[in-house]
Amino acid sequence: MTSTSSTEISSSPLSESQGDQKDMLEEAARRATHYLDGLDSRTVFPQHEALAGLESFTESFPQNPRGPLETLSLLDKAGSPATVATNGSRYFGFVIGGSLPVALAANVLAAAWDQNAGLYIASPITAKLEKVAIDWLVDVLGLPTGSAGGFVTGGTMANFGGLAAARHALLQREGWNAEAQGLFGAPPVTVIVGEEVHTSLLKALSLLGFGRERVMRVPVDGQGRMIASALPAISGPTVVCTQAGNVNTGAFDPIGEICRVAHKAGAWVHVDGAFGLWATAAPSRAHLTTGIDQADSWALDAHKWLNVPYDSGLVFCRNPEDLRSALTHNREAAYLIEGNDREPMEYTPELSRRARGIEVWAALRSLGRTGLAELIDRPCRLASKFAAGLKAGGYTILNDVELNQVLVSFGDAEKTKRVIKAVQEDGTCWCGGTVWQGHTAMRISISSWATTESDIDLSLEAILRIAKTV
Ligand SMILES: *Cc1c(COP(=O)(O)O)cnc(C)c1O
Repeated sequence: MTSTSSTEISSSPLSESQGDQKDMLEEAARRATHYLDGLDSRTVFPQHEALAGLESFTESFPQNPRGPLETLSLLDKAGSPATVATNGSRYFGFVIGGSLPVALAANVLAAAWDQNAGLYIASPITAKLEKVAIDWLVDVLGLPTGSAGGFVTGGTMANFGGLAAARHALLQREGWNAEAQGLFGAPPVTVIVGEEVHTSLLKALSLLGFGRERVMRVPVDGQGRMIASALPAISGPTVVCTQAGNVNTGAFDPIGEICRVAHKAGAWVHVDGAFGLWATAAPSRAHLTTGIDQADSWALDAHKWLNVPYDSGLVFCRNPEDLRSALTHNREAAYLIEGNDREPMEYTPELSRRARGIEVWAALRSLGRTGLAELIDRPCRLASKFAAGLKAGGYTILNDVELNQVLVSFGDAEKTKRVIKAVQEDGTCWCGGTVWQGHTAMRISISSWATTESDIDLSLEAILRIAKTV
C-alpha cells in the first residue's frame, strides 16, 4: 500500500466516525463485566420498566453518524436491563445453558479475528481448531473413531445435516443421486420417529423433502421413550430418528436396541442428542446412552450444555463420505480453491459462517475430561436436589429424574399454571410450563455451569413460598 492511499483511507470520514478501536473494546469489556456482575441480583425476566425502555430504540434511521460510544451506551443502558438473564445461574427454562467465561472470552477474541470459517484458505486457524474439537468430541462422546463432524447453528441444523446424510446414503443404494436429481421421481424413503419427536426434527424433515406428516410414529412409554418392540416392520430405504434426552423428562430412547433391529433391515439410525448426547461425557450418566455409538448420525448442541455462546451445534456422521456428499458444494465453483486439508464447508449447509469451533475448542480444553464430566453431572445432581425439595414440599414429580430435567405438578392444571406465572413474575428464577402426557407441569431444566446448590435453595424457597400462597 502506498503512503498516499493509506493517508486517504485513515482520514476518511468513515474511520473517523467509527472511533478508536481500543476505547470501544475497553468500553465494551467494562460494560459486559458490569452486566455479568449484576446478573445475580436482578430479576431473571426483565421488569416492566425495562421492557418499556425498549422504546428508546424506536427512532428514525439517523441521517448522520451518531457515534460508536453513544451507540454502545444506548445498547447497554436500554438493552442490558431488557435481556433475560439466561446467562445467570437461575434460569431453568427450555434447555438453555449459559456461557463459560473462557468461551465468552474466546468468542470476543474470535470476533476480533473475524474469520470466515468456511474454507481452510480463508482461515487455517479456524479449520485447525474445528478439526481438533471434532476429534476430541468424537473421543469423549464415544462416537465411532473416524466419524466426521460439522459446525452448525444448533440442533435443528444438526438434525438437518444428519438426515441429509441419511437421504444421500439410502438413495445412493437405490441408484439415485438425491443431491443432483432431487426427490421428484426418487424411490420413497420411509421415516420413523417416536411420538415424542422434537419439533425441530420434523422441521428438518420438511426442509429435506421428507415431509413432516408422512412419518410413521412409534408409541412411547411413560417417560417418553420409544418402545423398541413397537417399531414397525422395516423394509426398503428407511431412516429411524431416535432421541437422546427428551426435552420434558430427559429420557433416552433405547437406541442400542433400535439400532440392532433397524440395521438388520438396512435402515439408517439418526440420534437427536441435542443435549442428551452430552451424558456420554459423564461416567456417572453414560449408562443412559448405551448403544448410542451404534447409530449412523448424531445431532448435538454446544450452546446448551457445553455452555458456549449462541449459536453453536454440531452434526456427526459415522461415514464421512455420506455427510460430505450430502452437504458439499458443486465442485464446479473453481474459485473455491480446495487444499488437501479438511474443508469445513464440505460438512455444513453454509459456505461462509462464523468460527464456532473456536469457543467449543476453548471450552473443551479449559475443562478437560474431568471438567466436562462435572459440567454434565452437576446439573443432574442439582436436578435431583430440586426434585427432592419439591417432593418434600408435597408436590408431585412427574418424571424419573435421571438427567437434568424435572417436571412438577402443583395440583390441578389451573393451579400449576398460576404457580408458573407467579414464579416467573417473582423473578428469583425462571421456569416454563408444559403438558406432559396430559398433565400440566412446571418444567425445570438445569443446564448452566453457573448454577450452584445455593441457587437451588433460593429457587426452592421462592417456589414453595409461591405455591403455598397461590
Ligand atoms: C433444543 C433441541 C433441539 C433444537 O435445537 P436448536 O439448537 O434449538 O436448533 C432439537 N432436539 C432436542 C432434543 C432439543 O432439546
